[in-house]
Amino acid sequence: MKYVIAVDCEGPACVVGKPGGSLNDAPAQYEFARRQATAEASAAARGLFAAGATQVIVWDNHGGGVNLVYDELDERCDIFNGVHALRLAMLDETFAGLLFIGYHARDNTVAAPLAHTFNSGKYQWIKINGREIGEMAVDAAVAGAKGVPAIFVASDDKAVAEAKAFFPGITVVTTKVGYSWNAALSKHPRRVLREIEAAAQSAATDRAKVKPFAFASPLEVEIRHKRIDSADEACLPAYGWQRVDAYTVKRSINAITDLF
Ligand SMILES: [Zn+2]
Repeated sequence: MKYVIAVDCEGPACVVGKPGGSLNDAPAQYEFARRQATAEASAAARGLFAAGATQVIVWDNHGGGVNLVYDELDERCDIFNGVHALRLAMLDETFAGLLFIGYHARDNTVAAPLAHTFNSGKYQWIKINGREIGEMAVDAAVAGAKGVPAIFVASDDKAVAEAKAFFPGITVVTTKVGYSWNAALSKHPRRVLREIEAAAQSAATDRAKVKPFAFASPLEVEIRHKRIDSADEACLPAYGWQRVDAYTVKRSINAITDLF
């Protein structure tokens, strides 16, 4: 039984960034975030091993993919880090489940700390088949194409609600309640680790309750940019997007992996 724990850095307890930029623009918050993301991933791994996991791969995927404090992870874990063109390049049909640590709500969500979809400075929202989607849905669809379900998420209350709406039956832990893009009421960062460990263990035991996630094909992708010149650029022939309005472009793709 093999698992991938996908780790972003915005969703852990007490991570709220600061106004006017991404998490990376707030050095003290980034430093705390990468440590807490490491601790939360490690807690989830302990739960998976307690449930009989034979391999747990921790995928460090915030920004350039080199964030976590690797030697503080449970040493039974393997680690995938750095930059690769494919999301979840290490995951194949032999895996039993995908877990989300530190992910955040999609763009266009109220009171969700650091909510964005891939690029907080560039997009207002991304829709697939008419539904606004976030990074969890995209990664779950990549795993789902290999028959692997997304079985667990630990994040803020808005991201948890988003996960439940997309992946019925997923096991969740709420690390914090969002009050704004930059404010939250968090559980203590050490207390939440015990909750994550126990919940990840039951998520592994109950993994058959969650179906692999998929978007119906072809996928109709619509992106609303924050700037008109950014939408202009997307419509250059090399990129192949069609104009919907000044800020919005659309394109049809056959598989989720064609999104990038
Ligand atoms: Zn991130």
